[in-house]
Amino acid sequence: MIIQTQAIVLSIHPWSRTSHMVTWLTRDHGRIVTSVKGACRPKSAYLGQYDLFYTCLLDFYRKDRDGVHAIRECAPLLLREPLRSRWRAAAAAGYLCDLTARVAVSPQDSAALFDLLTRTLDRLGADPAPDLRALLLWYEIHLLRHLGLLPDLTLCPTCHAPEAPWYRFSLASGRFLCPHLAQPKAGERTVALHREVRKLAIRMINSPSAAIPESLPVSFAEKFFEENANPVLGLARFLGMFIQFHLDAPSAVRRVAWEMIAKNPTETVVKQEK
Ligand SMILES: [Zn+2]
Repeated sequence: MIIQTQAIVLSIHPWSRTSHMVTWLTRDHGRIVTSVKGACRPKSAYLGQYDLFYTCLLDFYRKDRDGVHAIRECAPLLLREPLRSRWRAAAAAGYLCDLTARVAVSPQDSAALFDLLTRTLDRLGADPAPDLRALLLWYEIHLLRHLGLLPDLTLCPTCHAPEAPWYRFSLASGRFLCPHLAQPKAGERTVALHREVRKLAIRMINSPSAAIPESLPVSFAEKFFEENANPVLGLARFLGMFIQFHLDAPSAVRRVAWEMIAKNPTETVVKQEK
């Protein structure tokens, strides 16, 4: 059966000498993998038709069972050119696509995820350049919401004093520890969360998924983030642990992405060498 759908290129891997394996997030069929035979040949019909972070109109032969589908035709709809020159934004996009490829399995409701990734990639390539840290955290939170895995940051009115600086969060139960609830099992992983990090996380959670590209970078990221560097890093660490725990995504990929999008990584390295 031939299927036509919009699809975002999540990753491209070489396969044999001249072919590619391409992983796509489709609008209607979830994540799929297609083989593109002869993709690297000089006269391939697919030259320039797809690349990382493109949105394409994709025609493929669908196999009944899960597996690798054969591509029939593909044409680019959105190239996102700025991501070819903004290398930090490209690193961020690479991380987001990798994370999405790991969690997007179900064809059900893939349109919502497709829209979320579309808007985030569009924003990465748009002007003014976005705050990459804000955008990454925003995407992760909305991806968790899409998967039904948002952390519950509600405080217990009896056990959690609002002015307390730290709260202990259980990764397994996805909420703060509280004597009213089931007690943590021996060896259960918990994380200390600062109240400012909790506030920032709630602000992020409450920012509607339609809030980019307009309102987030200016009103949220620049004002709030620059004044409060630590809550941002605290939230990044917390989400990193939460995602690793619940999505089984390797932490190294995320760590490298965060190092690459840091504003002055070269200066830091130079300073350390002296
Ligand atoms: Zn309680």
